[in-house]
Formats: sequence, structure tokens, C-alpha cells
Amino acid sequence: MDLGAVLVGLAMLVVTVVVLADPFVKSSDGGQRAYQSKRGLSARMKKRTGLWALRDLDFDHELGKVSEQDYKVTRAQILQETAAALEEIEKDEAAVEANIEEEVRNLRRTARESGRYCHQCGQAREQDDRFCTACGVEFKMAETLSE
Ligand SMILES: [Zn+2]
Repeated sequence: MDLGAVLVGLAMLVVTVVVLADPFVKSSDGGQRAYQSKRGLSARMKKRTGLWALRDLDFDHELGKVSEQDYKVTRAQILQETAAALEEIEKDEAAVEANIEEEVRNLRRTARESGRYCHQCGQAREQDDRFCTACGVEFKMAETLSE
């Protein structure tokens, strides 16, 4: 193997590692992926891996490294696995949406049941508070609560 081939191999390895590590890098700061289940994460990994395997297989097939028979069988297998992963991802996303809706319902109920919040900063307030304890904004007469 010559140096060029080794360098190309190394470059591909680096790209693969970066692509595969991507979801972990993003999830480390919390954020959007906070709701994503482990099952959903593993399905996303499977999807990525499947797409890479498909690319590799197509590449090897073009180079004539894989027999037509092996190519068809392996390709069908990878497609099936990737489709299953996509289905998992859809289920996971549906679950995420259901979680968010549930949480919004809970927040609304909490806001209704346990007093109100400052119109400026969202800090919880008592019925007879004249000023917000967090931001100090004055609650005008129209905003004083009547029950
Ligand atoms: Zn406030």
C-alpha cells in the first residue's frame, strides 16, 4: 500500500468518526435533543451506519470488488435494516411530540391552578403582590388578580 492510499484511508476514517460522533457532540450541551430517547438515538446511529454501509457497498461494487449476487443480497439487507431504523426514528419523534404536548398541558394547568406569573419576566406572583419579586416591575391595578 502506498502513502497516498494510507492518507485517503485515514481521511475517510476521520470523516466517519466525526459523522458518527455528531449526535453525541450535539447532545452534550443538552438543548434540542433533551427529549430524545436512547432508543431514538440508537436508531439514528443505525440510520447513519446504514447509509455509510450503502455508500461503501456501492463503491466496492463499482470497483468490481463485490459480486453481483453479494451486492444484491447485501444491499437489500442494509436497506431493510435502515428502513427499520427510520421507522424507529419516526416513532421516537412522535413520542417526543407527545412529551412536549404533555409538558405544555402540565405547565398550563400549573399556571391556572397555582396563582399567576409576572407579565414581564414570568416569575410566579402572589395575588396581592404589587411588585414582581424578581424583576421589580409594578403590577398595575388592571393586573391585580381577582378570584
Ligand atoms: Zn417580573
